[in-house]
Parts: sequence; C-alpha cells; structure tokens
Amino acid sequence: MAKALIIGTGAVATVGAQKVAQNYKVFSQLIITSRTKAKVDELVLRCQKYPLQVMGETVDAENVPALVKLIQKYQPDIVMNLALPYQNLPIMEACIQTKTHYLDTACAEVRDHAGFEYSTQWVYHDRFKKAGVMALLGVGFDPGVTSVFAVYGKKHYFDEVHYLDILDANGGDHGYPFATNFNPEINIREITMPGRYYEAGQWKTIPALSQFHTYPLEAIGPRDMYLMYHEELESLVKFIPELKRARFYMSFGEKYLRHLRVLEAVGMTSTQPIMYEGRPIVPLQFLKAVLPDPASLGPRTKGKTNISVILRGYKDGQEKAYRVFNMMDHEEAYQETGAQAIAYTTGVPAMIGATLVVTGQWSGAGVFNVEQFNPDPFMDLLNQWGLPWKESFDPKLID
Ligand code: NDP
Repeated sequence: MAKALIIGTGAVATVGAQKVAQNYKVFSQLIITSRTKAKVDELVLRCQKYPLQVMGETVDAENVPALVKLIQKYQPDIVMNLALPYQNLPIMEACIQTKTHYLDTACAEVRDHAGFEYSTQWVYHDRFKKAGVMALLGVGFDPGVTSVFAVYGKKHYFDEVHYLDILDANGGDHGYPFATNFNPEINIREITMPGRYYEAGQWKTIPALSQFHTYPLEAIGPRDMYLMYHEELESLVKFIPELKRARFYMSFGEKYLRHLRVLEAVGMTSTQPIMYEGRPIVPLQFLKAVLPDPASLGPRTKGKTNISVILRGYKDGQEKAYRVFNMMDHEEAYQETGAQAIAYTTGVPAMIGATLVVTGQWSGAGVFNVEQFNPDPFMDLLNQWGLPWKESFDPKLID
C-alpha cells in the first residue's frame, strides 16, 4: 500500500486528493498540505469519508528545508505537486534530498518572467537518477492526457505520425462576464504569450491569439479555436521525433477575448511591477485578487469540455488520420468532487500518474515525461476513473 503527499488545496488538488482517497486499494495514507490551514482542514474532511488515513499539515512549499522536514516526517512514496508552477523547482529539490518520487501537472515557471520550458526541469534528470527516484512531469489533461493520447494513437495506428493538433475546448458557462477556469495569474500569462508552433524542424512564433479555426465538436458545437503555445508541444516534438508539425489550439468565446484585450491594453495583465502608493505591485497579481476564485466557479458552471488530439501520418504506406478525445460535464464533476471539469480533468490524471508510479507500472530513475511510458495502462485507468475517451478514424482536419 502506498502513501501520497499532496501539495495544494486549490481546485485541482480538491479533485486529485479525493481521487487518491477513492483509490484506497492502492493508497493507504494521504497527507494534504498547503500554506492555509483552513483550506487543508476542509480538504482533509472531504477525503476522510473514504477508508484510508488522511492527515493535514501546513507548509510553504518554496521553503525547501521546511518541506524536506515534512517529507521526512511522513515518508510518502510520492509527492504530488498540485500547487502552482512557481513551486515545481523547490519541490523537486526537496524530493531529491529525501529520495521521494515527484509528480506535477504543469511546467515550472518563475514569477517575474512569462514563459515556460521543460528544460528548466529536465536539467534535474541526473540528480533524480542518482537519488534513484522518478520525477514525472506534466500529468494533468494538457499537458498530460494529450501526450498520452498522442503516443497511444501512434502505438496502435501509425508507423509514423507527421502532423499533430491538440484542441482544448471548454463549452462551460459560469455566468460571469470574465473569469478564468484555473489560477487566473497562470492562465492569463499563458494566453497572452505569443503563439508558437513547430513546423519543418523550426519553432514559429505568431502574435498572441492571432490565428483561429472553427472546429465542430461533439456536445458543445462549433468552437473558435485559437493557436497558442503549450508546454506539451516541447515534449511531443522531442519524443515523437518524426513530427513535421505540432500545434495547440484553445477555444475562447467572443466575450472572454473582448475583456482580455481591454485588460491587456490598459496594462492589467503585465507581470512587471509598478509603484502604487509607494509600494510595488504586479498588475496581474492585483487582477487575480479581483477576479472570481476559480474554486467558486464550480457550482455555477454548466456545459462540457471537449479535448482532443488529431494525428495524421502513415501506416503500412497508407496515409491515415485519427482523433481521440474526452468530454467532461462541469455539473457532473462538481456533483462528484465540488470542483468544475477543468479541475476534474487535471486532478484525475494526476492520481492516475501517481498510481502508475507507486505500483511500478511506470518505473525509472530520473526526470520523465508521460510520452516515455506505455500509454495503455493510463488509457485503461482514464476509463475507470471518470474520464472515458472516444476515437474517430475519419476526423475533420485543420489545414
Ligand atoms: P489554485 O490557485 O486553485 O490552487 C493553487 C494551490 O497552490 C492553492 O491551494 C495554494 O494553497 C497552493 N500554493 C500556492 N503557493 C504555495 C506554496 N508556496 N506552498 C504550498 N502551497 C502553495 O490552482 P489550480 O488548482 O487551479 O491549479 C493547480 C495547478 O494545476 C497549477 O499548476 C496549474 O497550472 C495546473 N493545471 C494544469 C492543467 C493541466 O491540464 N495540465 C489544467 C489546469 C491547471 P495556499 O494558498 O493555502 O498555499
């Protein structure tokens, strides 16, 4: 039986912790931590209805010695980082020092500079290897399931995959004029960065949100999908080296974009500190403070998400196309966990990744991405744990 320590008590951790608790045949102990005692206590209480031991602690995960002490106290088999990308590197450091497996759901970021590169985490490979434990990066939906979808499609239906498109569509409506579905600071930084995609051996950059396609989607209808950069493009291009093109698209409604453009134009999305009444404030952090807390969207959000991966390539000399996708209903997610579908589609894969690591189905010492492992057990567990997927062998393609 395994022990998991979860860092984070936000939307994603709310789902991840309850899913670990539901998987009590694998996990016998769960330790839940973040800086705020009230949030820890609330999540511990939610998980205590399942037959495993659940405990809470407070910790600042950016304080490596404090985190090392906490990990040594509980000796978990795995630390699940469901906090923010700012905490990835200190938590990795603490996992190396305590020889504990590590997992996260988003690429590391630093506060004063928008952008993310897996290389900041890949450099820890030798140290994890020497410690004899695994760091499994990016195990949410995107990144996470999207990469598993891609390698599953390649394994079963292609000799070579040449074109890859990821489509992340959210048909959910929370009724607010403007709100983000996960941490606003992280979300807005990602969306306002220039779009970037891979083509013919090169990374190409376009102005943010300057290119879109309308794509028809099951359950939510046609959606305007905007080309963006997303971290799994970096790992997919590395681990599917024959790719000629890889792109990521996300859906945005007209109302959302109108608000975002105004906020950007007046400087509210900037990560550069400005002086306000004698002290520095970061406009984006101030904006986060006035926007609805993503956790509060749960009871208000109706509709579904639809996230898919489209592959094109060759099998036995024949050109082929394939699409694999998941749809998740916001209200169903909320009913089960108290969080909406974006958190659900991230927290479930994190629990699945942790399960595969602690049961040894995915094993190795060093820093790994999900593309490096057999996708089949992950795909089976998605069906078992609330994220069933569907396939199409005649998908509409994006030129
Ligand atoms: P929230 O803002 O809801 O929660 C963040 C949590 O991090 C809070 O519980 C906070 O608790 C905790 N936290 C922040 N700083 C620290 C710290 N220094 N030490 C300990 N805990 C800390 O975010 P979400 O739940 O929406 O997102 C969580 C993660 O999931 C993010 O990294 C996000 O990028 C990722 N994500 C990934 C997706 C995917 O598909 N791969 C999709 C959506 C999100 P407290 O304030 O008490 O410390």
